[in-house]
Amino acid sequence: MDNKNQNQNQNENENGNRNQNLRMIVICLISAVIIFALYSYMQNQFKKSTYKEITYTEFNQMIEAKQIEKVVFKTDRIEITPKKEQNALKITYFTGYLEGDTDVYERLNAAGVSYSKEVTESNAWLQFILLDILPLVLIWGAMYFIFRRITQSAGGGIMGVGRSNAKMYMQADTGVTFADVAGQEEAKESLVEIIDFLQKPEKYLRIGAKCPKGALLVGPPGTGKTLLAKAVAGEAKVPFFSLSGSGFVEMFVGVGASRVRDLFKQAQQNAPCIIFIDEIDAIGKSRDSQFGNDEREQTLNQLLSEMDGFDTSKGIVILAATNRPEVLDKALLRPGRFDRRIIVDKPDLKGRVDILKVHSKNVLMHDSVDLEAIGLATSGAVGSDLANIVNEAAILAVKNGRTVVKQEDLLESVEVVIAGKEKKDRILSPEEKKIVAYHEVGHALITALMKDAEPVQKITIVPRTMGALGYVLQVPEEEKYLMSKDELKTRLVTLFGGRAAEELCFHTITTGAANDIEQATSIARAMITQYGMSEKFGLMGLESVENRYLDGRPVLNCGDETASEIDHEVMALLKESYDKAKELLSGNLDVLAAIADHLTEKETITGKEFMDILHKVRTKLQGENTEAGESVDESAEVSEALAEAQSEAEDEIDG
Ligand code: ADP
Repeated sequence: MDNKNQNQNQNENENGNRNQNLRMIVICLISAVIIFALYSYMQNQFKKSTYKEITYTEFNQMIEAKQIEKVVFKTDRIEITPKKEQNALKITYFTGYLEGDTDVYERLNAAGVSYSKEVTESNAWLQFILLDILPLVLIWGAMYFIFRRITQSAGGGIMGVGRSNAKMYMQADTGVTFADVAGQEEAKESLVEIIDFLQKPEKYLRIGAKCPKGALLVGPPGTGKTLLAKAVAGEAKVPFFSLSGSGFVEMFVGVGASRVRDLFKQAQQNAPCIIFIDEIDAIGKSRDSQFGNDEREQTLNQLLSEMDGFDTSKGIVILAATNRPEVLDKALLRPGRFDRRIIVDKPDLKGRVDILKVHSKNVLMHDSVDLEAIGLATSGAVGSDLANIVNEAAILAVKNGRTVVKQEDLLESVEVVIAGKEKKDRILSPEEKKIVAYHEVGHALITALMKDAEPVQKITIVPRTMGALGYVLQVPEEEKYLMSKDELKTRLVTLFGGRAAEELCFHTITTGAANDIEQATSIARAMITQYGMSEKFGLMGLESVENRYLDGRPVLNCGDETASEIDHEVMALLKESYDKAKELLSGNLDVLAAIADHLTEKETITGKEFMDILHKVRTKLQGENTEAGESVDESAEVSEALAEAQSEAEDEIDG
């Protein structure tokens, strides 16, 4: 039954297209004939002014007066070209034959006029085609082309109709199901209802329930919103229409609105179906903003009225995606329109591992591959990043001449996605290399010395394409959803470990800490203004975050005076963290130097190597100190922390 309906709709569409094309062809043909007739008329008019009929008597008079230059005897007339007078318009005369006037040739000879008989062309039909038919066809063709372009860009419309350049895709069967979307269980749960409705609308109509018209998928880019929408269509086995919000809006006012009309018309013809509008904020922005845009507003109005107007009983559901829900017009979100909001957030550890599993289904993986570990190392990554990581790993494996993907390929590709590819051509000078090594070991050593820090997985000073000259790869032991004040403070100290190492060992500071400083400042600021972690301001919310799903910028909600006090607080917190970093490192300069020298030589060391050296140097130092009968020069607290962190990290790396 559904198929029958679809076929019928398709036939109706095709008939509509044919009629429309036929109409355009006829219009263009009529216009071409009119243009050609006008052209011929004008040509005639011009010819008339330069091509005049005279009497035979006048012709004779001209011969006598020797005013003629040339005469051509044509089949139906005698054409006379007079001698041209200076600056006069070139006029040609003609007259009919006078039967019986056989002397005309003698008179012409006597007057010294050259004359000839016209040679009749044998291929007159060719001339007819070239001069009459061909221009007509060319004019018609050009008109048809121009008309098509104009209707395409101004009329809107959607694929299949062939009138639009709006990027609208229609997939009869998306081939995607919920099995292809890993994680996002809550989102899937909310969408199950829509699928059921699309499959059995009568069930809902019988009881008198109003069916949902639209749902808004909200979340950061790459979390699988489009994939989910496709999966809904795939599960419900209905066609999937998709269009980007920006695809509606053009330079000309009214184009977007007509596209919206076309979209809904098409959808009605193909119901039940899913309409998916990606980046709906491109047209759905609140209309009360200062900088109005007529085209956008008209498009939005059209969308609102179409959403009100269409008959839900047919089974059309509109899904829209956005990562800026806060800018959407309230009218779009009211019941009866996009009243359902489905959050598609960044995946948690389980979600990440599931996504990795989905994407590694078709990739040959070595048995030893541990996707859990990759999931742990990719905190904050979204679905598209993870898909990319698996693909990069497969490419790396091929590059390394392997037939299966190994854990090291996956880890390397995590780094490629986080920090970019290794930059082989960036040659650091030995001095720079040494500074970078000390800087990175500074971070790592603080991590090991402080209890709340994450274990170190790898330290490298091979520059990467995304700008890093070196970095420390840290993998948390478990997924964290909450950060305590102490953990955040530890993070600040760790971030300053690099700069502190530079200053302590080289008595100089470099630009290498710019990124650390930026990160530390934003953490410190958030602690004070958003997390209520400052003594001075207590629980006062001083900043709110805009564009949450786009790693938005915080906006201050306080007066200028408070703002400058906040700056002082941030500065104090940063200074305290830096001092702590220096204090920790200055007690461990030998260890720092030993590991950094090893790193300078090797360029990359693992967390295990790091801990081994740390352990060895410390044992040696302790031995020397005991021999000399001196006490260990570190505080008991630091030594204790060191031992604990050391064993923790070793466990992690061995595991
Ligand atoms: P969005 O529309 O949210 O920006 P997409 O749906 O276009 O993101 O996702 C991009 C790609 O990322 C998908 O094609 C898919 O390969 C991958 N992806 C994202 N989320 C998931 C997920 N939950 N499960 C499996 N793959 C995912």
